[in-house]
Amino acid sequence: MLTRERTDMQRARDLMVQNQIQARGVKDARLLGILRVLPRHLFVPKEEQSHAYDDSALPIGREATISQPLITAVMTESLKLDGTERVLEIGTGSGYQTALLCELAGEVYSIEIDPILAERSGQLLKDMGYRDRLSLRAGNGENGWPEAAPFDRIVVTAAPEKVPPALLEQLAEGGRMVVPAGPPMRQRLVVIEKHEGKLESTDLGPVRFVPLRPAKADKTNS
Ligand code: SAH
Repeated sequence: MLTRERTDMQRARDLMVQNQIQARGVKDARLLGILRVLPRHLFVPKEEQSHAYDDSALPIGREATISQPLITAVMTESLKLDGTERVLEIGTGSGYQTALLCELAGEVYSIEIDPILAERSGQLLKDMGYRDRLSLRAGNGENGWPEAAPFDRIVVTAAPEKVPPALLEQLAEGGRMVVPAGPPMRQRLVVIEKHEGKLESTDLGPVRFVPLRPAKADKTNS
């Protein structure tokens, strides 16, 4: 269980929740409670720690970013978690959202394509005590995690041009997925719900995420 430390970091976190997240309409009380205690500064590189509670995304190395606190909060709130769900996350990255999901859902499966980030966030999450209900995998998340499917919730934290069909298939009946989808510069954050096998989308607005790999454009590089 997380406890509150009496530090500057705690004050910075309280202000982050109040000014960046609550002030912009996030209401889920369980989520706000966890955001106030989860030490976001541990999920960013040392040289970025003084910015950990800033209103922005931050680089975490390997061309990845930890999302802006507001975006992480909006995505997590849109999943409507009550603590019982099986959740699949694509793009573990820093592991920050993974930790939030562990606090708010039943079981969490998370896939990261970059082996170095996967190793780093895996170690941190383990050290923080997230073990029993968390399964991690290094690999391409586009194919989902078929052996553990179906999932009540899916959260994708890198942007595909089109939502990968395997993820839509692995979404349980009555399930919800949140995904930033679209070409770079024209991505939209979308919530997809599955009812009686039919998919219904709600557009939450424009966003900017790193592309889900392997992106076509990547191949010219390296
Ligand atoms: N929720 C994370 C976001 C990290 S950025 C956080 O706040 O820290 C997105 C992550 O998705 C990056 O770590 C990137 O390496 C990863 N990623 C990109 N394409 C992927 C793919 N096909 N499968 C799994 N992970 C992928």
